[in-house]
Amino acid sequence: MTQIKPNGDTYYNSTLTGLSPAENEFREAVWDFSARVVKPRAEAIEKEGGKEGGEYKTLLEVHKKMAEMGLHGVTVPTEDITSSLGLGLSYTHHLLAMEAVSYSSASLALSYGAHSNLCVNQLSRWGSNEQKAKWIPGLLDGSYIGALAMSEVGAGSDVLGSMRSSARKTDEGFVLNGNKFWITNGPKADVFIVYAKDVVEPGAKQTYTTFLVPRETPGFSTGKPLDKFGMRGSPTCELIFEDVFLPSSAVLGSSLLGKGAKVLMSGLDLERLVLTGGPLGIMQAAYDTAVEYVHQREQFGVRVGTIGSMQAKLAGMYTAVNTARTFAYSVARAVDWHNEEAKKNGIEPGDKRYVYPVNQRRDCAAAILYATDKAIEVALECMQCLGGNGYINDYPAARYLADARLYAVGAGTQEVRRWLIGREVNSDFE
Ligand SMILES: Cc1cc2nc3c(=O)[nH]c(=O)nc-3n(C[C@H](O)[C@H](O)[C@H](O)COP(=O)(O)OP(=O)(O)OC[C@H]3O[C@@H](n4cnc5c(N)ncnc54)[C@H](O)[C@@H]3O)c2cc1C
Repeated sequence: MTQIKPNGDTYYNSTLTGLSPAENEFREAVWDFSARVVKPRAEAIEKEGGKEGGEYKTLLEVHKKMAEMGLHGVTVPTEDITSSLGLGLSYTHHLLAMEAVSYSSASLALSYGAHSNLCVNQLSRWGSNEQKAKWIPGLLDGSYIGALAMSEVGAGSDVLGSMRSSARKTDEGFVLNGNKFWITNGPKADVFIVYAKDVVEPGAKQTYTTFLVPRETPGFSTGKPLDKFGMRGSPTCELIFEDVFLPSSAVLGSSLLGKGAKVLMSGLDLERLVLTGGPLGIMQAAYDTAVEYVHQREQFGVRVGTIGSMQAKLAGMYTAVNTARTFAYSVARAVDWHNEEAKKNGIEPGDKRYVYPVNQRRDCAAAILYATDKAIEVALECMQCLGGNGYINDYPAARYLADARLYAVGAGTQEVRRWLIGREVNSDFE
C-alpha cells in the first residue's frame, strides 16, 4: 500500500497543505508528540473528567509536557520580555498544534485551546506589561492553567446583550457579581479572563470591561464539573462571583476600561480560527479509523472497503477532510500575513491604527463552520463503516461524534456563524 503516513500513524495528506518546510517541521513534531505522549493517555483523560472533586491528574500531567514543548505560547511573541517560553509563531502554527492534539484527545485539545488561545493569547495581545509579567511565565511553563469566561446561563449567542454579570466601580477598584456557565478549565484554572457589563448611569451607553481574576480571590467560587455528552475529559463548570473585589490593576490592558466588547469580539475571531483545529483533528481520526477498519473487515469474501457504496463513503470522507483543512489553513495564512504586515509597520493589535483583515470575521467563522459540519458528517460515516462496532464504546467512533458535536455550539453556534457570515456578505452591498 502506498500511504501518506508522515508519523507512521495517520493518513493525513501532507501533499495538499501548502505548508512551508518550517511549518511542516513544526507540524510533524506536534503530531509525533500527539502520537507518543497524548494518545496513550487519552483514555485516562476521558475517565478522569466530569467527577466532583476530580483531580484531572493525567490532563494536567500532559499540560506540563506540552509546556516543555512551548505549545502554550505558540503565538506569544518571543521579544516579549515576560514570555521566555513564547514561540513567537503564527496562528497557522497554533491551528496545526490544535489539530494534532485533537487527533489523539479532543478533550485535552479543548482544554489546551481554552488555555493557550482564549486565555494566553488574549492576555498576550491586550494585557499590560505588568499583567503579562505576572501571569504569562506561569501560564507558559505549565504552572498555571488559564480560562476565559463570557457565557452565562442566560447569555450565550447574545453574549453581550443578555449579560448579567456586572462590575461596579468603587473608589478602590471594582466589585464583580454574577455567574458564568460552561467555562472550559473552570474546575482547575488558576486565572480567568472575565467579561462583565459596567454598571452605568441610567440612559448611558452600556459598556463592558475585561478583568483578570485569580482563583483565590475572595467571593469567587466554582460549581461542580458539568457532565457532558462528549469532551468528557475536558473540565467544564460554572463560575460564581459574589461581591468579588478587584483592584483597578485587574482590568485587562492599561487603557481598556469600558472596551470589553472590542476585546471579546476580536478574540472570538481568532478563537474560531484556532479551534478549527478541533474538528479537523477529530475528522482525521475518524477517517483513519474508518479507512483501516474497512480494509480489515471482510464480508462476502471481500474487504468491505472495496464494495462500491463503501468506496463512495471513503471518497466523501477523504474529500471532506482535505477541503476543510486546506480552507482553514488558507484562512490562517491570510490572518498571519495581515498580522505580519501590521507588525512591519509597527502596529500592534492594541494600537488604534490596527485594522483587522478585510474578511477576517467571516472567514474565521466560515473555517470552523465548514470543518464542524464535515467533522460531524465524517464521524457519522466512520460509525457506519464500523457497522455494529461503530456503536460499541470499545471502538472510538461514537466518541468522535460526541466530541465533534461540541464544535457546533462552542465558540458560537453553527446558526450564529451562518448568520454572521451572511450579515458580513450583505454588508458588502450597503
Ligand atoms: C463544552 C462547552 C465548553 C464551553 N466553553 C466555554 C468557555 O470556555 N467560555 C465561554 O465563555 N463559553 C463556553 N461555552 C459556551 C458556548 O460558547 C455557548 O454554549 C454558545 O455560545 C451558545 O450559547 P447557548 O448555549 O446559550 O445557546 P443559545 O444562545 O441559547 O442558543 C440556542 C439555540 O438558538 C440558536 N440561536 C440563538 N441565537 C440565534 C441567532 N441570532 N440566529 C440563529 N440561531 C440562533 C442557537 O444556534 C442554538 O441552536 C462552552 C460550551 C460548551 C458546551
